[in-house]
Amino acid sequence: MLNNVINILSVEAHSDDVCITNQLLTSSFGARYELATVACLSEALTCLDSNHFDVCLLDLHLPDSTGLDSFLTLQNKIPGLPIVILMGQNDEPLANQALQLGAQDYLVKDQVHPIWLKRAIHHAIERVQLLEQIKTHEVQMQQLNVLLRDRLKRRTTAIHQMHQQVQVLKTISFVDALTQITNRLGFDQRLEREWIHSIGNNRALSLLMIDIDYFKQFNDTYGHPEGDRCLKQVAQTIQDGLLRPQDSVARYGGEEFVVILPETSEMGAMQVAERICADIRNLEIAHATSPLCEHVTISLGVATEIPQENNLPQDLIVNADQALYQAKHRGRNRIAVHQEVAQEVAQEVTVEASCLTSELALERN
Ligand code: GH3
Ligand code: MG
Ligand code: MG
Repeated sequence: MLNNVINILSVEAHSDDVCITNQLLTSSFGARYELATVACLSEALTCLDSNHFDVCLLDLHLPDSTGLDSFLTLQNKIPGLPIVILMGQNDEPLANQALQLGAQDYLVKDQVHPIWLKRAIHHAIERVQLLEQIKTHEVQMQQLNVLLRDRLKRRTTAIHQMHQQVQVLKTISFVDALTQITNRLGFDQRLEREWIHSIGNNRALSLLMIDIDYFKQFNDTYGHPEGDRCLKQVAQTIQDGLLRPQDSVARYGGEEFVVILPETSEMGAMQVAERICADIRNLEIAHATSPLCEHVTISLGVATEIPQENNLPQDLIVNADQALYQAKHRGRNRIAVHQEVAQEVAQEVTVEASCLTSELALERN
């Protein structure tokens, strides 16, 4: 800036003071100063309309305006214009107020040294330029802030949507597409949870394994789509038959369903099993080719355990499955309880063992 011309507007009513200022500026080396002078505020305003100035030297006492008004009017006219107050000896309080309102500096007229004047002019210009830069940066920062906030909002929305999608996918992955009840995956998780919970409270956990009787014949007779409808009806009926919120049904696979009955004794599980059997019977879904009955029937296996740390939920599944096998074995359309199965197996083993003992005894004799 020092190599450029600095355009100065001097607003000064006293021609003597204008001369002094002019002399002070011309006596300096380095920068070139172009000094335009006006004697009152109205002239200054007119002059500012058609000219650019780098700085304004202002006497606060003008014929048409005095005190801070002179300063404020000029500042309002050109907000970015650096203004240096040139004042009389007694004007310091006023000049200080002008500083607080945005004037760049003040100098006492009859004490001004050329170097001070030059310094005041240059510093005033540089300060205003710096302020402008700060303002520009502030605006840029605000724009950046808005941009970042907008991005953050969009990211948050995207994450929220993804979270919702994950929840939907999770839900879907635990639901059987055909029957809309819990699928095998959901069942495994739920059983695991109930198993751990039952270990904690030392309560019995029961499982019903349910299988539709002669379902292959049903499909063969009525077609696969009708078979699907039957599966949906059976699933819904089992679900509707569960009266406690903690009880749950799942499609175990094909035409097999499982019911988890937490905190349920064998007797309680039997009651639920009987109710489900009756509900399915009451549906009266025609099954003309069933060797058992003219309607669809089911077989159920019941198993109950008080889960312990040293056994697994799979034990309960195996037991319920064995009981179901027995129900099928005994003629279908019935309920078998694992306890009985165990006793029967024990009895069969005892019978077999006693036969073997008799045979051995006979052989010996
Ligand atoms: P059991 O009384 O011994 O259980 O005889 P079942 O005919 O019911 O048993 P099996 O295992 O021989 O046949 C099961 C049938 O279930 C065969 C299969 O086509 C049918 N099935 C399995 N899943 C579906 C399905 O999603 N939709 C339909 N419509 N049928 C299915
Ligand atoms: Mg089956
Ligand atoms: Mg079956």
